Order: sequence, then structure tokens, then C-alpha cells
Amino acid sequence: MSHGCLATLSAVTHRYGDVVALDGLDLQIRPGEVLAVLGPNGAGKTTAIGLLLGSLQVQQGAVHVFGRDPGARPVRMRRGAMLQVSGLPDTLTVAENLELFSSYYPAPLPVSTLLAMAGLEELAARRYGRLSGGQKQRVMFALALAGDPELVFLDEPTTGLDVEARRSLWSEIQRLKKAGRTAVLTTHYLEEADALADRIAVIHQGRVVAEGTPSEIKSRTADRRIRCITGVGRDDVASLPGVVRAEVSGQHLEILTARPEDVLRTLLALDPDLRDLHVTGAGLEDAFLTLVRAGDPQEEVS
Ligand code: ATP
Repeated sequence: MSHGCLATLSAVTHRYGDVVALDGLDLQIRPGEVLAVLGPNGAGKTTAIGLLLGSLQVQQGAVHVFGRDPGARPVRMRRGAMLQVSGLPDTLTVAENLELFSSYYPAPLPVSTLLAMAGLEELAARRYGRLSGGQKQRVMFALALAGDPELVFLDEPTTGLDVEARRSLWSEIQRLKKAGRTAVLTTHYLEEADALADRIAVIHQGRVVAEGTPSEIKSRTADRRIRCITGVGRDDVASLPGVVRAEVSGQHLEILTARPEDVLRTLLALDPDLRDLHVTGAGLEDAFLTLVRAGDPQEEVS
């Protein structure tokens, strides 16, 4: 394992039958950081977390947490996990579920602290089965922290939460970090990674395609999408400096670029009759595409 890292995935390949979910993935988790693992559906995020939790068997490569096998009991006592699914007893109250779970750890946080951290004080006496989806998710967050873990894994922690619940979970994650804890969170949202993470690893098709601070990642994904009707041909536009991609979409030409002003200036000089112009921020999918291509200099930009 890399020196000083809390957890590492080294050259990890993981298959489900014919599906290659992870393809030689390398990832390090450093003490005290919030690492966001960002990627589109099916990128391999949940698989990577499953290996770090020891809930999936390593097939190829090496996975270490606290320098040991991820499933070892001493490792499990020092980390917490918030998963997307729960098997909690519906008939126990929120507080009873937390007590039950806490009893598993040698030095758990008090249930009252957990309730406060997850904003669940008012719901302590409610049966788990009677909670809304977002409330259940807050219980899952509280469970992840029950053992006062040094390292906590949060798998899409805010999916399905309303804006207020999302913001309060964000501030709890920031508090954990201030308290010196390490967190790994998976998310689809660049905005969430940006708000919370010290470092972002972008995963695409089972590989890390970009890694850096949020501002490094954002500067690499600061693309704009230009949409217009023009007589200039697609191939001519595609070869302009700063154009990542140009595509015909019905009557329109769609252009992805990191330099929208330059591209527009050139286009208008070439075609003063250019019309129906729209410039928008490129979506996350476009950002991923840019990152994937940036990671693969062999590929022709078309
Ligand atoms: P999402 O954002 O949708 O949760 P993810 O990044 O967490 O996606 P994974 O769940 O790790 O991605 O899945 C990676 C790939 O492995 C996908 O192609 C998925 O269909 C496949 N996969 C995951 N679990 C299984 C399974 N149990 N059996 C077969 N294929 C699976």
C-alpha cells in the first residue's frame, strides 16, 4: 500500500460475468481528506466502494484499508458506511435502531449525538418503517457514524434528499472533516463534489480519467455548448482551435468548446447570417466526455 494512505485500490479489475465494472482502477484515500468519486451511471463507483468495504471479493489487483484486508474485523470497527440500501427492522424506532447498531462498536457515539448530527431528534421515537425515503436516508447517515469512525464511506448520500436535507448533510460532512475524519463519497453531481471535496476522482468505464482539486477538475470541464444554424460545415467547425466536438442535430450545429468567445467570433466572421444562436453551460456528460478524451491523446477529436 502507498505510504501514508488510509486506503488504496491498486490495479483493480472487477468483472460481473462479461461486464468489466473496474478496469485497472488505482485510487488512494489520504488521511483527513474528503475524496469525491464522481462518475456517470455504471462507471464503477459502487463496485469500488464494495471492494473497500470488503462486501465484494477482490478478483484482481489489491485493496487495503488501514493497511489490511478490508473485511477484517479491526478494520470494520474503524470505518463506517452509508449505503444505498438498508435492511433495518421496520418495527424498531429510530433511536432503537441506532442503539442496536451502536452496540456493535467498542466506542460508539452517544445516540443523542447521532440523532443531532443527522437532524433526527424529532423522529427519535418514530418507527423506522413509518419514515419517508429522505428520513430513512438520514438514519443511514447516522448509522454510518455510529462507531465514531476514522474513515466513512458515503455512497450517493444525498440522492433523493430535498434541498434542505442535502444542505444539512453537507454541513455535517464538512464538520466531520474539521474533526479530522476522512470521508469518501460517491456522487453523480459535480456541484456536490465541488461543495465538499478536497479532491475529486472522476471515474468512467471503470478507470480514473481525471483526478485533482475541485477547481482543477472544473477548469478542465468548463466547456460551453454553442447551438446555431449556420452555413459553415461541420468539418470546418470541428477543425477550429478550441472546438472539442461539433455535431449536426437536425437544422442546427452543436459545438462543444472551452473557448466559446473565440469560436463564436470566428463563426460570425465566416457566416454573418448565422442565426438561432444559443450558448449554454455544457452538461456533466459533456464534461465527462471532455475528461475521457483528455485522458486519451490517441483519440481523434471529431
Ligand atoms: P450508479 O451511479 O448507477 O450507481 P456505479 O458507478 O455505482 O453506477 P456500478 O454499480 O459499480 O456503477 O456498476 C458498474 C458496472 O457493473 C455497470 O455496468 C453495472 O451494470 C455492472 N454491475 C454492477 N453490479 C452488477 C451485478 N451484480 N451483476 C452484473 N453487473 C453488475
